[in-house]
Amino acid sequence: MFTIRLKAGREKSVLRRHPWVFSGAIEELIGAPAQGDTVKIVDQAGKFLAWGAYSPHSQIRVRVWSFEEKDTIDESFLQLRLEQALKLRHEIFSAGEMEALRLVHGESDGLPGLIVDRYGDLLVMQCLSSGPELWRETLVDLLVKLTGIGQVYERSDVDVRQLEGLADRVGALRGGEPPERVLIHENGLSFWVDVRSGHKTGFYLDQRTNRLRVRQIALDKDVLDCFAYSGGFSVNALAGGASSVIILDSSRAALELASENLAQNNLPVERVEFIEADVFNALRGFRDRGRSYDLIVLDPPKFAPTAAQAEKASRGYKDINLLALKLLRPGGFLFTFSCSGGISPDLFQKIVAGAALDAGVDARIVERLHQDADHPVALNFPEGEYLKGLVVWRAT
Ligand code: SAH
Repeated sequence: MFTIRLKAGREKSVLRRHPWVFSGAIEELIGAPAQGDTVKIVDQAGKFLAWGAYSPHSQIRVRVWSFEEKDTIDESFLQLRLEQALKLRHEIFSAGEMEALRLVHGESDGLPGLIVDRYGDLLVMQCLSSGPELWRETLVDLLVKLTGIGQVYERSDVDVRQLEGLADRVGALRGGEPPERVLIHENGLSFWVDVRSGHKTGFYLDQRTNRLRVRQIALDKDVLDCFAYSGGFSVNALAGGASSVIILDSSRAALELASENLAQNNLPVERVEFIEADVFNALRGFRDRGRSYDLIVLDPPKFAPTAAQAEKASRGYKDINLLALKLLRPGGFLFTFSCSGGISPDLFQKIVAGAALDAGVDARIVERLHQDADHPVALNFPEGEYLKGLVVWRAT
């Protein structure tokens, strides 16, 4: 058995059940665990605290599997955790909704570093850290057994793996190569998901309910969808009766997928303008040309993955929000999001407030939005709450 003894006082966060142990908290490593091996974490005096997966190259040296001494980290432990995650989804989603859903959301499902998304008859798995990396084969077998889905694809091509000293891994794990595109249904609309080369695992499942909110208020509105990806918000806006929609993204592949998603849903493509451009530049261009909109969506990529990049990221968020608020007609709505782990909900609201002030507009928060329920937030892991959104109404 391998043991990690923490420095005096550094046991506090583990006692609060935070699942990360940083390298600086460690006093002594007993034994020579390999990457992903289970280690016992004890306090200065040797008292048991947790079992976790060892990661020799990461600042997050251990990710905790369990805080119970009686647990053994093995196949049946992992099965229990997976069963729990699946049970939760079955409780809160209908059978139809289960078709396109995040089944496992890492730390918040008690499975640090593991992401599993379901797209129809296909599971897409992401191993973000050394624990799931070591247990990959066991996890895949369990997933197939518990879901009855025989096709599993891996998309472990994310930057955070570099911090763990892990190379990218992409490819079929079970059931052979998946089709180029998989069709899913979300709140009555259809979307093509490119699991092999799309973003994340292919689709932004976390915005499901927020896209529906846009549909519910889009009637007769001129909509500007910034960072549109495969058109999730735009498809919903058109389904809700928007008068016009601009689909703006810097990726041509994303816009092509968006165009196919419009066709798939028989939406009026003549109301749509596709713009392949950088949002920062495009918004300035619209401003210079005196354009205005009734509903603007700002759903940028992560500007600040960690708190260290928060300052630079804040400037980016402020810039686009300021420009968007200026482009918004009085009485219009801004759906503005941040999926940066390094930007707290509080800070995000401050940034948007600063943008409104500088834009000289009188604006109100009418709704706060979050990642959808298949992306839970463990109470002992507030970092799990990464997506925050504000619906802002411009009064004057
Ligand atoms: N709203 C989408 C998800 C957006 S993901 C949905 O609901 O599905 C972020 C998108 O921003 C990606 O498609 C990426 O291509 C795009 N992007 C990133 N930086 C950009 C920039 N500077 N200008 C325009 N698009 C950008």
